[in-house]
Amino acid sequence: MPGEGTAIRLQSLRKSFGQVEAVCGVDLEIRDGEFFSMLGPSGSGKTTVLRMIAGFEPSTSGTVELAGRDVTRLAPFERDVNTVFQDYALFPHMTLEQNVAYGLKIRKVPKAQRLERAREALANVRLEGFGKRRPSQLSGGQRQRVALARALVNRPKVLLLDEPLGALDLKLREEMQVELKALQREVGITFVFVTHDQDEALTMSDRIAVFNQGRIEQVGTPAEVYERPATAFVAGFVGTSNLLTGEAAQKVVGAAGTYSVRPEKIHLLDSPDALGKAEDGHTSAVGRVAEVVYLGDATRFIVDLDAGGRLTALQQNKETSSDEVAAYRGTRVRLQWHERHNFRVADPQ
Ligand code: ATP
Repeated sequence: MPGEGTAIRLQSLRKSFGQVEAVCGVDLEIRDGEFFSMLGPSGSGKTTVLRMIAGFEPSTSGTVELAGRDVTRLAPFERDVNTVFQDYALFPHMTLEQNVAYGLKIRKVPKAQRLERAREALANVRLEGFGKRRPSQLSGGQRQRVALARALVNRPKVLLLDEPLGALDLKLREEMQVELKALQREVGITFVFVTHDQDEALTMSDRIAVFNQGRIEQVGTPAEVYERPATAFVAGFVGTSNLLTGEAAQKVVGAAGTYSVRPEKIHLLDSPDALGKAEDGHTSAVGRVAEVVYLGDATRFIVDLDAGGRLTALQQNKETSSDEVAAYRGTRVRLQWHERHNFRVADPQ
């Protein structure tokens, strides 16, 4: 569980590469023992922030503190952090034990202790008994675990992970997400995890920072970021963009501004009775089904509203078949959701 102390503090952190402002003033506090994700599209600056925490990239301005100590000007090896990259960069000619123990050798830890710690780290990532193998004799997921063991063996206070599951296929990736989270709980180290995959961030994190164009748009728990997005960008990036804005907001919500509503909160009603009026305490809008996307366990209905704008409603396929849902295309429906599911977000830029 996250503790009380602050593991990492970033203040007004900036980075320019010539004309490109990669990071434009980031302020952030990450707590001890937290599983913290930096989520954002490609090029939003998350890797650059991670590299500034590790010390691989000097900041243009601003400060990085680790456990209350200003490390902004220190070299990577002087910081109590380790990084796991997407390309595991294992040494092919060494056994797994040697790969994992390598960092300890550099730091002149005695041989017997090195081996013991390497075996312990391999056991941590469920590779007990694999120590004598070479990287070529492993699957992708196992190689990723060796890369983790190699970082854990140094017992850092903070582990930085840059899209570590990016090279794995979806199934393995999902398995590793669960494992990685369990491992983090077990070792209690602060994890800072970079990803562009919203599901991955929602599944694993205690808290998430959503990046856009070198800035953080929102920091919060997965539920906060998903259910109460602060901006239109967050609403669209973490989930399906379902916004009512301008005239459509006036007509449907009855107020000015931009509102986000999650697709699974919206009920789709098609009886003539329901088309006529909405229930009390609910927001509702009538429209025509423009598209039906059958997903197996659920269906996504994309509806063009009479009030203007377009909303997506997600319905579980409890009773309905794919033929039945397809027949909705082109029909008139009422969308209805409880008022409490309208979230005001900052207006789109
Ligand atoms: P990705 O998910 O693709 O890795 P990211 O969110 O991690 O993206 P960064 O890698 O931090 O984004 O890049 C942020 C911006 O800085 C991008 O516009 C990128 O092109 C630029 N950039 C990053 N590194 C350099 C560099 N060494 N030289 C010049 N520009 C760079």
